[in-house]
Amino acid sequence: MQPIDCLISTPDKGSAGKTGLWRTYKPIVDEKKCNSCMVCWLYCPENVITEGEKCIEIDYEYCKGCGICCEVCAKKAIKMVLEE
Ligand code: SF4
Ligand code: SF4
Repeated sequence: MQPIDCLISTPDKGSAGKTGLWRTYKPIVDEKKCNSCMVCWLYCPENVITEGEKCIEIDYEYCKGCGICCEVCAKKAIKMVLEE
């Protein structure tokens, strides 16, 4: 019997290269609304959200603009804006 090979992708920062190049929309955080609950960090598939001094910070080199962080934020602190 032949061995079965498979590839398993684990979400992590940069596991698919500089995924920031894929982005059409960019998540922008309103630091006045963000309470640093880190729910967005929990859901971000690229693992690019970190805790900053005032609120979260996003590594735009790898953020692919999927918008999941915006969807899960109960405080509506993240807005997706068209990339310039
Ligand atoms: S989910 Fe919203 S409020 Fe919570 S850390 Fe993320 S941006 Fe801030
Ligand atoms: S849009 Fe939000 S959830 Fe998606 S990769 Fe960027 S920071 Fe992560």
